[in-house]
Amino acid sequence: MQKIVIASLAGMSFLTLAHGTEVTSAMLKNAATDTSNVLSFGIGSEGQRYSPLTQVNSKNVSKLVPAWSFSFGGEKQRGQESQPVIHNGKMFVTASYSRIFAIDMKTGQKLWKYEHRLPDGIMPCCDVVNRGAALFGNLVIFGTLDAQLVALNQDTGKVVWKEKIDDYAAGYSMTAAPLIADGVLLTGVSGGEFGIVGRVEARNPLTGELLWTRPTVEGHMGYRYDKDGKAIENGISGTLNKTWPGDLWKTGGASTWMGGTYDAKTGLAYFGTGNPAPWNSHLRPGDNLYSSSTVALDVKTGQIKWAYQNTPNDSWDFDGANEFVTFDMDGKRYGGKADRNGFFYVIDANNGKLQNAFPFVKKITWASSIDLKTGRPNFIPANRPGDPTKGEEGKKGSTVFAAPAFLGAKNQMPMAYSQQTGLFYVPANEWGMDIWNEPISYKKGGAYLGAGFTIRPLFDDYIGALRAIDPKTGKIVWEVKNTAPLWGGVMSTAGGLVFYGTPEGFLKAVDAKTGKELWKFQTGSGVVAPPVTWQDGDTQYVAVVSGWGGAVPLWGGEVAKKVNFLEQGGSVWVFKLSSK
Ligand code: CA
Repeated sequence: MQKIVIASLAGMSFLTLAHGTEVTSAMLKNAATDTSNVLSFGIGSEGQRYSPLTQVNSKNVSKLVPAWSFSFGGEKQRGQESQPVIHNGKMFVTASYSRIFAIDMKTGQKLWKYEHRLPDGIMPCCDVVNRGAALFGNLVIFGTLDAQLVALNQDTGKVVWKEKIDDYAAGYSMTAAPLIADGVLLTGVSGGEFGIVGRVEARNPLTGELLWTRPTVEGHMGYRYDKDGKAIENGISGTLNKTWPGDLWKTGGASTWMGGTYDAKTGLAYFGTGNPAPWNSHLRPGDNLYSSSTVALDVKTGQIKWAYQNTPNDSWDFDGANEFVTFDMDGKRYGGKADRNGFFYVIDANNGKLQNAFPFVKKITWASSIDLKTGRPNFIPANRPGDPTKGEEGKKGSTVFAAPAFLGAKNQMPMAYSQQTGLFYVPANEWGMDIWNEPISYKKGGAYLGAGFTIRPLFDDYIGALRAIDPKTGKIVWEVKNTAPLWGGVMSTAGGLVFYGTPEGFLKAVDAKTGKELWKFQTGSGVVAPPVTWQDGDTQYVAVVSGWGGAVPLWGGEVAKKVNFLEQGGSVWVFKLSSK
């Protein structure tokens, strides 16, 4: 008798759960205010990384203690840039080398793991990282270093569908978290250093079936796909040869390697695009659309609704890949973007019109300002690396010292916006580089730069600086300096807090109004990933991934030497108040 009761109760609860555990479009639309889950990268598809939770606040954050920690294990570690997503009592967290783990959110116990089998010839430019997964239905979906998308059953970790995005041997890879926008799965591609062609793809998240593609290099044809998967022409992106000379558009870069954001209020998805390829700008006179830009896409049709180019004819690898974070100001919907090129842009999210642009780092050499009327930068021509065809012996152009360095005033580490303070919290870096151009021609799978460089710090005492920025005035309200370059993301909460990690291994909480440090915890390796928070029952949790790596140790020149004492790792840490 007892057995039967249990079985029937279990059956009922299974039915209830099965219904209640599916991640729906409606849930994703409200993800930013759903405090019991973390349903998407960015803590909501707008990417604000703002939580309304207040249990952990500026008065008690000093009492934050570890609840559990989980090791990714394995023989290889390297950079861990992943943001966990949390749903139905489970945490889903990706790790280096295209791994993903499901962990019991309360106990820290492993439920399953999936290790993608990677071929030998993968070509990630900037470490073997992954930034996170997307949730839809009962699936958890992530991209891999060999340019595939894998969808797994959330409960079992079994592969439900797998799709090849492109040819890894040509330099394509995937490191960004996929985005679900209005029920459609949107992904970009990495590989701008290998002359790939950037694009955004839309798929049915439940099946992987391709719906449309939109190239982000002007001149390429977009496609939509019928029920049988047949490609139908869907208009050229821009106008062939308008901003690209000759054939260079065919290998034009503009990779969408950081993925995108989506705002249900505008119905648009916003993707940043990387450098035009090759880096040597003298080979490609013109603006080279839509490289180093923000591109706003109609999710239903795959058409470009507007594009704003941060760095026309980019010569410094100023990937405009940075996230476009939508927010309300003066009754209008804007997007904020802290660009790799050193300027912070405030742009009308509906039509792409520039509202404001101002520096968020101390030194910018490539442009003196952004013209708010035309939206174009006021270039300083002398500070563009020289044309190699005019250099001595025709081999190397003149070297210039440029700031920011190509690793950017801000790189992949996402910023946060607080609805409480109206401020953006930007993990910025102060560095420059010697850069010169060299002759180059495209070869499949080969580095396609035509440039050499050495990164140097600008100041003796710090490189990183967490800055609170007022999007209305362009003022830096406060800053917290950091010795090593900041490479993790930021989160703000209604508890008056801003959380961020440092390569030195700390997760820190500071006062959102003043920047005063209120709490820190040593995670045992460098933090280069963004924190999250959620509430389960009566307890608010905070989590962050730890594991030093990413682009800085690989490409950081003089800066890399300064941080080579930092140890690798791979783990996720979860915290709660000691009273809980
Ligand atoms: Ca790049």
